[in-house]
Amino acid sequence: MNLPPLSVAPRLDRLRAAFAAAQVDALLVTRLPNIRYLTGFTGSAAMVLVTEQGVTFTTDGRYTEQSGEQLAAAGVEAQIEIGATQADQRDALAAAAAGVARVGLEAHGVTWAQQRDIAGWFGAAELVATDHVVETLRLVKEEAEVARIRAACAIGDAAFAEVRPMLADGPTEQEVALALEWAMRTRGASGNSFDPIVAAGPNAAKPHARPSARRIEPGELVVLDFGCIVDGYCSDMTRTVSVGPPNAASQRLVDVVREAQANGRDAVRAGAAAADVDRACRDIIDSAGLGEYFVHSTGHGVGLEIHEAPRVAKTAGDTLEAGFVVTVEPGVYVPGVGGVRVEDTLVVTYDGADPLTLAPKDLVVA
Ligand code: ZN
Ligand code: ZN
Repeated sequence: MNLPPLSVAPRLDRLRAAFAAAQVDALLVTRLPNIRYLTGFTGSAAMVLVTEQGVTFTTDGRYTEQSGEQLAAAGVEAQIEIGATQADQRDALAAAAAGVARVGLEAHGVTWAQQRDIAGWFGAAELVATDHVVETLRLVKEEAEVARIRAACAIGDAAFAEVRPMLADGPTEQEVALALEWAMRTRGASGNSFDPIVAAGPNAAKPHARPSARRIEPGELVVLDFGCIVDGYCSDMTRTVSVGPPNAASQRLVDVVREAQANGRDAVRAGAAAADVDRACRDIIDSAGLGEYFVHSTGHGVGLEIHEAPRVAKTAGDTLEAGFVVTVEPGVYVPGVGGVRVEDTLVVTYDGADPLTLAPKDLVVA
């Protein structure tokens, strides 16, 4: 896959520019997606202290070689400290924070036990709870980030096109989920962005059903919600199909959700309130008398994490900006009848939305 290079190192200065508002002089970054964003490191354990002057990166001996290679490849200049024990890593971080008055912790990423532990690390420095400082930087995607999400979405589209016909052959939900996974991996995805949801008939009435060993029968609606990862970036899409012609009750659910999804997509643009995108979907479903069956939010941001800011929900306070990547995924789930969800991943633009999910929404698999 030919992907443009990410521009990682400049993100550290963007982070420092956010210190004043967060009332910190340094930030101890412990959430792995944020560490990846700031340094390019993809391993499973690290802590990074970013001060006004420098970056101290600590990890353990498993990642000696990898951390050096990945930070160098990302153009990130950091003092890399490999500590066999957490005490060694702590000492390196404490030394780097000498003279710093206020050290920020990522309030949403630190456990109570960690906070109690870290409280003893930095001497007289005050620990400050910070609120999504790095996540806020991650909201607007760079072109190279969008290129990765677009590539992951294209793999999702292709996997769906390949797997869709097999639904007519009476497979189990688990077989379809595995086929989707196989199709995405063989096209270059490094993994699923989450375990695929394949939910047919009565199972489709559960928004996040796990694929079961139940065979998919003619006449059933099937909800397929899946995505993959390309160079760390996620895709997310949902299609609902009917195996053979749907009954009238199913067709009505499909018509309402499709209209709601199209209305939500049309509401996406830079400057729009995320809550208004939710309302654009919800109004259609409410008017059809199905509001009680739309039991989740309309969407979410997508990037290094499958669910990230902004929320696209009734109570969301976010305003969409150009370069945000969000999903629009209304659904209705009627016990005893079935469920329908349709989801696209979109880039917010000044004119509207640039769709990254392009798979057709044809309903019937014959
Ligand atoms: Zn999804
Ligand atoms: Zn989603």
